[in-house]
Amino acid sequence: AIDSTPAASGRVSVLVETPQHSGLGGPLDYLSERALAPGSLVRVPLGKREVLGLVWDAPEGDDTPTAAALKPVLDHFEGLAPLDDGWRRLVAFAASYYQRGQGELALAVLPPALRDDTPAQLARRLKRLAPKPPKPARKSARKPAQVEAPAAAPPPPVLPDLSPDQQRAVDDLCAQLHHANPKPRLLFGVTGSGKTEVYLRAAEAALAAGRQVLVLVPEINLTPQLEARFTARFAHLLPAQHAIVSLHSALTPAQRMASWLAAHTGQARLVLGTRLAVFASMPELGLIVVDEEHDPSYKQQDGARYSARDLAVWRAHGLRIPIVLGSATPSLESWQQAETGRYVRLNLPGRVGGSLLPRVRLFDMKALPPQAGVTTALTAPLLAALQERLARGEQSLVFLNRRGYAPVLHCGECQWKSDCPHCSAWRVFHKRDRTLRCHHCGFTERVPRHCPSCGNADIAPLGRGTEKLEEQLQEALPTARILRIDADSTRLKGELEAQLQTVHDGDVDILVGTQMVTKGHDFRRIRFVAAVNPDGALFSSDFRAPERLFALLMQAAGRAGRDAAGGSEAEMWVQTWHRDNAVYQALARHDYEAFARSQLDERKTAHLPPFSHLALLRAEARTEQAARDFLKAAAQAAEAISGADDRFVYPPVPHPIARVANVERMQMLVEASQRARLQAFLREWLPELLLLKRQHKGVLRWAVDVDPLAI
Ligand code: ADP
Ligand code: ZN
Ligand code: ZN
Repeated sequence: AIDSTPAASGRVSVLVETPQHSGLGGPLDYLSERALAPGSLVRVPLGKREVLGLVWDAPEGDDTPTAAALKPVLDHFEGLAPLDDGWRRLVAFAASYYQRGQGELALAVLPPALRDDTPAQLARRLKRLAPKPPKPARKSARKPAQVEAPAAAPPPPVLPDLSPDQQRAVDDLCAQLHHANPKPRLLFGVTGSGKTEVYLRAAEAALAAGRQVLVLVPEINLTPQLEARFTARFAHLLPAQHAIVSLHSALTPAQRMASWLAAHTGQARLVLGTRLAVFASMPELGLIVVDEEHDPSYKQQDGARYSARDLAVWRAHGLRIPIVLGSATPSLESWQQAETGRYVRLNLPGRVGGSLLPRVRLFDMKALPPQAGVTTALTAPLLAALQERLARGEQSLVFLNRRGYAPVLHCGECQWKSDCPHCSAWRVFHKRDRTLRCHHCGFTERVPRHCPSCGNADIAPLGRGTEKLEEQLQEALPTARILRIDADSTRLKGELEAQLQTVHDGDVDILVGTQMVTKGHDFRRIRFVAAVNPDGALFSSDFRAPERLFALLMQAAGRAGRDAAGGSEAEMWVQTWHRDNAVYQALARHDYEAFARSQLDERKTAHLPPFSHLALLRAEARTEQAARDFLKAAAQAAEAISGADDRFVYPPVPHPIARVANVERMQMLVEASQRARLQAFLREWLPELLLLKRQHKGVLRWAVDVDPLAI
């Protein structure tokens, strides 16, 4: 019910930030002297504090305390238009679907700076945003109008001729802009097939029709490159300041606020952002793009564990606007949606300009002389291949998904290993600053000179990370210019951009990196990519591990040979002890479709998503027993809830990393055949869990993860 005029008493419902779960009951009531439309931002008293609140739609026929007992709204943000109906529906849906409080979710997805702003401060921020440029009214959508460009507008860029496949995709998307109820589009195109060009054209059409465009990308570090590409393309259409903005967590609070306000006021016509941008307020939103839609980064991993991709689909559906999900390796969920006709698939089967996908070579580690393969990731044939590329002046990428020097230090005398005293994990040896660092709790110590257990001076690293790989490569290829890019090399602001630039400039012969460098980057010079030790992912207990490994390796392969004029054949080199594994076999044929089919068959047989729906209840406690007891009680409570025959509650198991920072983590999976049934169950189960938590004092935290990605 939309209650935009307050009752005679002046009662308004207001969402405020409440601690986890306590806000499940919804908004609180306050008293307002003036009429406040739903979506208005206000400041209200909460306990002893004064907090940001959001006027919400009042619940129907409610019998909350009379006006006399209510506290007053203290202030409201006058110059700011209320958050619109579509935005409020999105927030309400997300809170309900992911089982969180509406207030918690709404306030968490607003820019943090808003929380501390007074209305006067906000007014100043609004003033700092340049005035809105003239733009075509929404009504004139049918005749694509040119934005009236001030004198400073640069000339329009020269556009490439689209390939017939690109043209088909663009025509389809442009037609969808005028469709009454468009279906989501899955843009399935190999790396370098020109997907981004398709987004650009579709975005251009939406902008010309006077609509805002939202482009989601999985990684912050992909935003600068993409932002530059969008700006270069649209500067002539959108010359005004703040017409193209980015929105992600690495912005300063003031920057994020400015972007958010620009989107909300409609001054920003195109918003480029990471998962949190799915909640951007965009009153004239007309098109959503989700690039690399399969990427796990779209799932928030704490608080409200939402999937930005799934919410984007929901948002587009609610607004009846087109959405395009792009990937070379779509998630099996999206692929299945296209198979059943709920999404429409658009194919870009070939690379732009006819450049070929790299040849994939599965290098069989078993074929090496005994022992040779065990001791080094840099096998002699791999070094020879790198040497050859080096001699030709070509760039190579060596990929290893493990940072640091070595995953563990080891004493050969007493078998001591550098475990973390607080976690069930090894501490990683970082040679550069001679530390042992836990990548889970952050516990860091200087490397001991002697074995802490027996005093042996001869403690040695076991295994290898990117730091060691870099060192060994440099020893083996002394003339090569080697650069390592991973989370350690890019800690400081601007480092990543600078490092990527040296790669683009050709000042690097061999790039060593983690998955950070395998995604998205349009490297033009790389012709050889090697995955030196990808097998680990084959033995994960997570049923999505093969899907993720396949996507990762396809992405990595996609960095090679992007430039058709590059000369020699591009190659992807995969070192494996399991070359017959289906993941590698499909990779060698670049056959995503066959891979998807076989994985989906397995999932169907095993009743796994997308053929079933999952929720994961996580519990954290000081002892494993306390966490387990809570989960067992939760399972018992589940039995009493109707629909048990359609539901399966698995036994509690430890989290794959069971202990982090001295906290034991257990989890329990619930599976249901239908999404709606799972949702109905969770709505009944959650209040029970709240009660149980009170009885289980040993439990520090619990959370429900709906559609969990990592199991
Ligand atoms: P993807 O997003 O599928 O990896 P891109 O859109 O980034 O592919 O395209 C790869 C490269 O090809 C980019 O440098 C892009 O500018 C260029 N490109 C895309 N479409 C065309 C086209 N029709 N003609 C010429 N070059 C194109
Ligand atoms: Zn020892
Ligand atoms: Zn630790």
